[in-house]
Amino acid sequence: MTRAHNFSAGPAALPLPVLESLQGVLTEFEDTQAGLMEISHRSKQFDNVAKTAESRLRSILSIPEDYSVLFLQGGASLQFYMTALNLLGADERGDYLCTGAWSQKAVKEAKRCSASENIWTPEDGVFNRVPAQNDYTLSNDAKYLHYTTNNTIFGTQFGYTPDAGDTPLIADMSSDICSRPVDVSKHAVIYAGAQKNLGPSGVTVVILSPWAVERSRTIGQSRPGGLPSMLDYGLMVDKESLFNTPNTFGIYALERVLNWIETEGGVDAMEKLNDEKAAHLYGALDATDFWTPHAVDGSRSRMNVTWRGPSEELEKKFIAEADAAGMKALKGHRSVGGIRASTYNACSMASVEALVSFMKDFEAKNG
Ligand SMILES: *Cc1c(COP(=O)(O)O)cnc(C)c1O
Repeated sequence: MTRAHNFSAGPAALPLPVLESLQGVLTEFEDTQAGLMEISHRSKQFDNVAKTAESRLRSILSIPEDYSVLFLQGGASLQFYMTALNLLGADERGDYLCTGAWSQKAVKEAKRCSASENIWTPEDGVFNRVPAQNDYTLSNDAKYLHYTTNNTIFGTQFGYTPDAGDTPLIADMSSDICSRPVDVSKHAVIYAGAQKNLGPSGVTVVILSPWAVERSRTIGQSRPGGLPSMLDYGLMVDKESLFNTPNTFGIYALERVLNWIETEGGVDAMEKLNDEKAAHLYGALDATDFWTPHAVDGSRSRMNVTWRGPSEELEKKFIAEADAAGMKALKGHRSVGGIRASTYNACSMASVEALVSFMKDFEAKNG
């Protein structure tokens, strides 16, 4: 078997030991005499999987005990709407820091059911940075502040937790959850689609403060007929994510990834490795005029590194030759072009070293 160096933005590379452990359970899971995907989501064996996944996530991210953890479906994209629906009345607003394509989508969905607005967007419209702390002003009546911790498409990342004062904070952490320590207690809601750092697509992690759960119940009571069941945080908390059939296989894979993170030394070890990978790659980009990094210093993502080549033609050539040499999925997002290397937790330093060495060779031949 040959596994290439995988720089996919998502669904993304998973740790090989995790993938190998998944193979075995397909046909026989523990003492069930059936495969993992063939047993009830209400069986004691699956209950144990879900509980273990939750307790690992709680321990890895130091989630406060009174917070709720949900494993839902619909991706981060459903959370764009669900957060606003559960936390805002129709004429109430959340404030949004608009730092890229996913933030734009988040506020667009929120506007369907609330009076939410962007309060920051780059003046020149170029998403190559995030705002500095307090480089934005919250509106007086904001019920929450929403931000995207890592901008997967543009390759920028918040290096700090925005200070929203007493206003609850909501974070889309889809592309950097568990890549570094985070102060969960400063957030009212954290959500993340699993397919970048945590497992396969089809599972969404949602972390809710007691305020967020209470608020969802109040909003639900204020709406005639209540919230739609599948979109009701309060109900999902009451039913422990088992209101309907969850993605059982996805939750098991997520549990295995969390186990792998623990074995590797938790989020501190992930952060160290991710910093080293990013330093190596940005170092190579900064060392030459041949490449042009997209994100400005201070806003650079340690998960998605984006850059341009000398011409579109050379970018195409680079991506094709890299692919042939076993370095996959380096094409930038269709909305930005250029080159993007996604270096999530499961991407090894060896992969980044291979890429940097290939970049140097390419420059020598084409520079
Ligand atoms: C990938 C991504 C999303 C979309 O996730 P889905 O699970 O496909 O809905 C949202 N936000 C960010 C930051 C992402 O990286």
